[in-house]
Amino acid sequence: VEHLVKTFDVSAPWLNRVMEGKPRQLLQAVNDISFAVPAGGCLSLVGESGCGKSTVARLVTGLHKSDSGEIRFAPGRSGAPLSAQMIFQDPYASLNPRWRVKNIIAEPLRELKLRKTAAEIGDRVEELLLTVGLSPSDGEKFPHEFSGGQRQRISIARALASEPEFLVCDEPTSALDVSVQAQVLNLMRRLQDEFGLTYLFISHDMSVVRHMSDRIAVMYLGRIVEEGDTETIFADPRHPYTQLLLQTIPNIEEPNRDRVVVPGEVPSPLKPPSGCTFHPRCPLATARCSAEVPAVRTLSSNTRVACHLVEDVPVPA
Ligand code: SF4
Ligand code: MG
Repeated sequence: VEHLVKTFDVSAPWLNRVMEGKPRQLLQAVNDISFAVPAGGCLSLVGESGCGKSTVARLVTGLHKSDSGEIRFAPGRSGAPLSAQMIFQDPYASLNPRWRVKNIIAEPLRELKLRKTAAEIGDRVEELLLTVGLSPSDGEKFPHEFSGGQRQRISIARALASEPEFLVCDEPTSALDVSVQAQVLNLMRRLQDEFGLTYLFISHDMSVVRHMSDRIAVMYLGRIVEEGDTETIFADPRHPYTQLLLQTIPNIEEPNRDRVVVPGEVPSPLKPPSGCTFHPRCPLATARCSAEVPAVRTLSSNTRVACHLVEDVPVPA
């Protein structure tokens, strides 16, 4: 993904705007974002709600069209384009409540003509149900007869039915209880190994992305502020926002400690702060931070950071 930009026009309808003398209001949801998802690996986009991560997911899967920038799948690969599927936060909203589960899973098989006869389709649906840890008899039931975790398994089975190489997962477990969350994440990792899947994973939860990702990109108000491999981000976070996000992870040793939250609120993306947009909440901000947008620097650890303070830190040889 290179230099992706997406702006939404959130103005009142044209006539109202003219009558009330209001200017056009543009919301820059994604502001010059670049990253690479390693083939067969997982890159996570993490940040508070409203940072633009879901918009990136929708741009990558073609549900939105970008204003500018480029998305390439498997650069240099010849042959068929990469097939991508999306898994959403609320599986209930994306599963047709009036269809039996077997028909929900069979739909992509029929649509893409991956299986021909009813018997072949039935066999494949059974196989997919078993793959995600459900039983063949579950195919006869309707979505409302399942728990949240089981419904997410159904939507994963449906996504796998089209034999994708690339899955975009937008907060797939955030609506689930912590214990169920872990089961679904483990399933997703097992499927990744088994089918050689590539994941773009979206979450607001640092402990979830630690479990899933090879690389992590931290987003703030439409920009990536830090991106690097998972171990480095956790061992040596360089951006003040990443450092604060890491403090929000509950500590198993001190379960009664109050959950830390990043102080202050995310500013409206309609009126982003000047300079480094994180400056109103940054404990280390200086006068320069509200005046100048920090450049993105690549460190020797192959981490990219956008913060004025980082350039002053000598990069180890
Ligand atoms: Fe904080 Fe300034 Fe760095 Fe932005 S550029 S994160 S305000 S220190
Ligand atoms: Mg979202």
